Amino acid sequence: MHRLLLLLLAPIWLLVATPSTPGVPSYEVELTGTPDGRTWSGRETVSFTNTATESLREVYVRLWGNSRGCGAVAVTGGVATDDCTVVRFSLPEALQPGKRASISFDVKLTAPEREDRFGRSGEFSFFGNALPVLAVRDAAGWHLERDMGIGESFYTVAADFAVRLTHTGNLAVPSTGVTTDGVAIAKQARDFAWAAGPFRTTSTTSPGGVTVRTWATPTVTADAVSSAQADATAALDEFGRRFGAYPDHELDLVLNDRWTAFSGMEYPGFVLLISPSSPVVHEVAHQWWYGLVGNNEYADPWLDEAFATYATDVFEGDHRAGCWPGTLPVAITRDMGYWGAHDTSYGTFVYTYGSCMLHELERLIGTPAMDRLLASYAKAHWHGVVTPADFKAAAQAASTVELGPFWREHGIG
Ligand SMILES: [Zn+2]
Repeated sequence: MHRLLLLLLAPIWLLVATPSTPGVPSYEVELTGTPDGRTWSGRETVSFTNTATESLREVYVRLWGNSRGCGAVAVTGGVATDDCTVVRFSLPEALQPGKRASISFDVKLTAPEREDRFGRSGEFSFFGNALPVLAVRDAAGWHLERDMGIGESFYTVAADFAVRLTHTGNLAVPSTGVTTDGVAIAKQARDFAWAAGPFRTTSTTSPGGVTVRTWATPTVTADAVSSAQADATAALDEFGRRFGAYPDHELDLVLNDRWTAFSGMEYPGFVLLISPSSPVVHEVAHQWWYGLVGNNEYADPWLDEAFATYATDVFEGDHRAGCWPGTLPVAITRDMGYWGAHDTSYGTFVYTYGSCMLHELERLIGTPAMDRLLASYAKAHWHGVVTPADFKAAAQAASTVELGPFWREHGIG
């Protein structure tokens, strides 16, 4: 193509969103645990399609488990980078658009001695953000941002997982997905997490048909377990009615009363919770806002945290009248790079003012329009990744009120 023509076409081309890649990932993982459940090692194979319009020469794997200390997660193959959470795998030949390839590597994970989503508490080990996952490349390039140390800096696309966790210990091993014949299967999940230890387990099924299993450390009280189950089953059914039915048949609640420096974390079909003061409904809301309707959590943390907070408020019947404080000094839409450097503002702006903005939007367009908006927005982006523009477009489509002034007043750029 003539260079001049390229220059003429470039601005038009830039307006067309470049599809993200690698897409349609599937993970096959076989890990064997030590009898204490603290170290798991084995083989991981990741298959993917080049969903971009240009060829793919490399992929990046994120070892998020190393973000608070290198070495907790090790893989063979690939090329280390100066960030121990990033490993680059060159493909043997350039992968053409639409074609599929896979990479395989040995992996070894050891839960660090700290209270965390990837950590150890007494005889229990937790493997949140521990399994290596593919990084995403989109119009902005490869997303290799660092974990900012607060909240979530993650970005993955929905994937199919088949994970076999074998061990000889006296362990219960709750995980993402549903386990059949020793293999945990999760379809269209953004991540895969598990825990290991001598948990006490119970289960119940919500009226809407979702099984909630609890996995409690020994001193979690029976009252705390039944309270968490009641909140989770009610929230799963209520959010299912509001945002679209929960497609997974099982949610695992892992309850630990020994954490003092860690309060909980959401994963697909799997939630870590401090007991008894656990934010159960908030983490269940994340099954939709993050899990089913995904986002780049580094770029747009408000797209899951504000929505999970708002959904929890509505579930509790709290519409936060008069919550908006007026023009904010900082937009709630800032990325984790900003919040990592301003961590004392993160909760107030992203969660509190973020959810308040959604309550204010509901007051402006009316509750029926807000309900239509959230249901149609979830349906349109089910198992996808949303952007602020997607939400603004969905909101405008749900209401005859011109929303430009609202976005400006609430700093939604
Ligand atoms: Zn949250």
